[in-house]
Amino acid sequence: MELLAPAGDLNKLKYAVYYGADAVYAAGNNFGLRAKSTNFSEVHLKEAVDFCHKHGRKIYITVNIFAHNSDIEQLPEYLIFLQKIGVDALIISDPGVFSLAKEFAPDVDIHISTQANVTSWSAVDFWYKLGAKRIILARELGIKEIVEIKKKVPKIELEMFVHGAMCMSYSGRCLISAFLNNRSANRGLCTQPCRWEYNLIEKSRPGEFFKIEEDERGSYFFNSKDLNLIKRIPQIKKAGIDSIKIEGRMKSLYYVAAVTRAYKTAIEAGTNTVSTDTQEELNKVSHRYYSEAFFDKFDSSETQYYGSSAYIRDYQFVGEVQKVEGTSAFISIKAKFCIGDEIEFIFPDSKNDFKIKLKNIFNEENEMIQLTKPNTIIRLDLDKKLPKWGIVRKKNIEE
Ligand code: SF4
Repeated sequence: MELLAPAGDLNKLKYAVYYGADAVYAAGNNFGLRAKSTNFSEVHLKEAVDFCHKHGRKIYITVNIFAHNSDIEQLPEYLIFLQKIGVDALIISDPGVFSLAKEFAPDVDIHISTQANVTSWSAVDFWYKLGAKRIILARELGIKEIVEIKKKVPKIELEMFVHGAMCMSYSGRCLISAFLNNRSANRGLCTQPCRWEYNLIEKSRPGEFFKIEEDERGSYFFNSKDLNLIKRIPQIKKAGIDSIKIEGRMKSLYYVAAVTRAYKTAIEAGTNTVSTDTQEELNKVSHRYYSEAFFDKFDSSETQYYGSSAYIRDYQFVGEVQKVEGTSAFISIKAKFCIGDEIEFIFPDSKNDFKIKLKNIFNEENEMIQLTKPNTIIRLDLDKKLPKWGIVRKKNIEE
């Protein structure tokens, strides 16, 4: 079973690969559904493809907007380019884009995006007969339905989301952002208004906000929990799923690395129960309350969280190891920490993880400092040489 991780930019892509992804998905600057993510220029796309292939990994490119006429004019050139640089598959939801891909990038596999909302074996069969290589199933399917699909259409590859944010609508088929902000989710511009807190205003009393309370839980009535199926990996493997996918191209490199590594560990455990340590790793990245969503049965009290849309942040991503010289580590600072704090280093191989209580921190001028500043580089003198691709996190102390 393939582990497929998000790659919001080239650096995150490298972390995904080093922390265990078998394949990554990314977008060029146009035609994908994460317009606000950094995404890849054409030069970076080529570099990304070469990097993945050099490491024996695959790279899939999202071309999953619902295209308008103006997009259609520009698509052939882009599709020809993607075929030329050797991407492994295109992720597509729109039948018009599908047909152009068949014409202008005939050698590249096509994966049908979750945005196409494929929810039955008949829809899977439809795309199979048209030549799709893989279906990224709608998140709204339970495992029983997926098993049935696999039995009825065994020749097509099936991919399913196992981790990350969910929409309260059918994956992305939602007009709230387009309606409130003129930024359409179906054009990759969602502003996530489903996470906002809503109040009611009576027309003749502007500025007075009346609380909307369906019950004591409050008014985040659109806010979905995050998907987390790590405990179900043995079952998913048994069902014959070809690829499991992590959501989050706009998340940090720490998120990508830690979540990818946890799922890799779960896959490697085979059909054994996933250890609590591995499950616990997923509580150390910023997340909303977790849910198994539709896996067994749909229950809205399980998928929605009405109390707040805030993230749970028990740990903070505080630094990325940029360079190692002997036993000194040079760290690019993402968030503050100070002498006396306990920080934790994580690496692609979790056996190398360790914690230390900080006794010294040096700035770039080689001066000892008490507190780090974001967007600077600091040096830590340690008692061992660090492996490559280290990330630094810190537990948040409750106030
Ligand atoms: S507003 Fe929320 S539910 Fe709608 S597409 Fe955006 S994230 Fe999904």
